[in-house]
Amino acid sequence: MKNYKFYLSDIDANTSLKSASSIAVDGEFSGLDPKTDKLHLLQLCDGSGFVHLVKFEKDYNAPNLKEILENNKIKKIFHFGRADLGFLKQHLNINVKNIFDTKIASKICRKFSPDHGLKDLCRDLLGINLSKQHQTSDWGKRIEEYSKDQISYACNDVLYLHKIKLELEKILIRENKSNLAEQCFNFLETRTDLDLVGLKKDIFEH
Ligand code: MG
Repeated sequence: MKNYKFYLSDIDANTSLKSASSIAVDGEFSGLDPKTDKLHLLQLCDGSGFVHLVKFEKDYNAPNLKEILENNKIKKIFHFGRADLGFLKQHLNINVKNIFDTKIASKICRKFSPDHGLKDLCRDLLGINLSKQHQTSDWGKRIEEYSKDQISYACNDVLYLHKIKLELEKILIRENKSNLAEQCFNFLETRTDLDLVGLKKDIFEH
């Protein structure tokens, strides 16, 4: 049975995601700069193992999706949300709040490790080996042209974030760093705004 569903331009109005307490979110782009590049695909998962894939074509008029992403009661789980948030702000014109970022959390509470990629966290925290080989594939083509591997790659980017978050939360609590992580998640909105005005480097650095 398929564990995903595609939508064109916007998610269904009656989607079960609306009543989720937390949603894992990840985007695929045409490049790295939200100012010049497109957001092609947004993957969403409520932790149930089913992935909702929204493909953008002509525009970003997606009221149902915006309603979910702007619902501050729903926790949005990202892995390196800084990238996705830039594209969401630039194209959908939304500020996403109430965030947990697995990459930031890992950097804060797993200082012993130099590796904080999604593949690393899946391996180290969940014992799951992920392939990252489709990271750079062409997401601009039509849904019908996506390969099975490409779709499975897109799904994997959100399928494990709930479980990773649970493991990281345990370490954050143990290390007494939950507050620090929370403050970093809250700063992501400003970090995204800095990116969008061209201040990509760490402005706190000497
Ligand atoms: Mg991705």
